[in-house]
Amino acid sequence: MDPQRRERYSRQILFAEIGEQGQERLCNSSAVLVGCGALGTALANLLIRAGLGHLRIVDRDFVEPSNLQRQTLFEEADAREALPKAVAAARRLGAVNSDAKVEGVVADLSPANCDELLSGFPVLLDGTDNFETRLLVNDYAVSRSVPWIYAAVVASYGLTMPILPGETACLACLTESSIPEDSFAAAATRGAEPTCDTVGVLGAAAGVIASLQSVSAIKLLLGKLNATDARLVSCDVWTGRFQAIHPARDTDCRACGQRRFSYLEGSAQPHLTMCGRDSVQIHERRRHLDLAALGRHLTAAGSEVRHNEFLLRFRVSPYEVTVFNDGRAIIKGTRDPAVARSLYARYIGA
Ligand SMILES: [Zn+2]
Repeated sequence: MDPQRRERYSRQILFAEIGEQGQERLCNSSAVLVGCGALGTALANLLIRAGLGHLRIVDRDFVEPSNLQRQTLFEEADAREALPKAVAAARRLGAVNSDAKVEGVVADLSPANCDELLSGFPVLLDGTDNFETRLLVNDYAVSRSVPWIYAAVVASYGLTMPILPGETACLACLTESSIPEDSFAAAATRGAEPTCDTVGVLGAAAGVIASLQSVSAIKLLLGKLNATDARLVSCDVWTGRFQAIHPARDTDCRACGQRRFSYLEGSAQPHLTMCGRDSVQIHERRRHLDLAALGRHLTAAGSEVRHNEFLLRFRVSPYEVTVFNDGRAIIKGTRDPAVARSLYARYIGA
């Protein structure tokens, strides 16, 4: 290891479980992160500072002012410019550690692009905010035997667990079979999905969970994580309650038992979704849109249009429509799929 690198990581090299060999290995390792919100930004920051050599960040969203309270890689300017999170995060992390390769990929993970976006990485990291995408990641990971690190956070609590396909319980074992009712972790599992914007979220909760996730990722990449270490850890930063359990595999599990990958086959994933705000996302299309031309058209029609190289946003009161150049769109101000489809058809075209 060259002296500069040895100096940079000296405090981590001094930690006996990592040492110089472990550091070298980490610097030559890679991971892919799906979702770059509160958990994802905290996790990416920790891993890139720790010396992870290559991180791919896949995220479909753009930075908004309400993200700044907890999404630690973003700044006010990113929100003003409505930069895609993957782009803003990669830019910031490139300045944090110029030795690392950080790829920001603006995309919505789907059954169609899973292989293209996730293959070739030895570990998948969960930074998502919804169970559709997590179960898709789980299907992918279990079917390809790639470990992944599940995590979720809401309000003041969160949970995380490394999933080693074939060795530990998978996410479908946890969420699709019955878990003891009195389990704190079970309550957190259930609570973590539908309430992202109804009960809020503390940056501290995301910070704790992302920290635990980063340790699991580093141990995995160093070959030091085995099935007995793979506990489901949950915590509530407000009450200070922590719990670690060792969930059993469900022998009859849809994914890791019967090997039915319904999320990966696309049969379980809806075409319209959005978690975390009063919005519907249309992601059934895969085409290239000329945003500049669309912007000119909308401006001529009297709409107020904001436009950068990645997305175009315009208002159709009381809605706000954000269109990406792959044809994907987010319609804010409604939860009604029909309204969303109608606006898409009227302003962007079928
Ligand atoms: Zn399973």
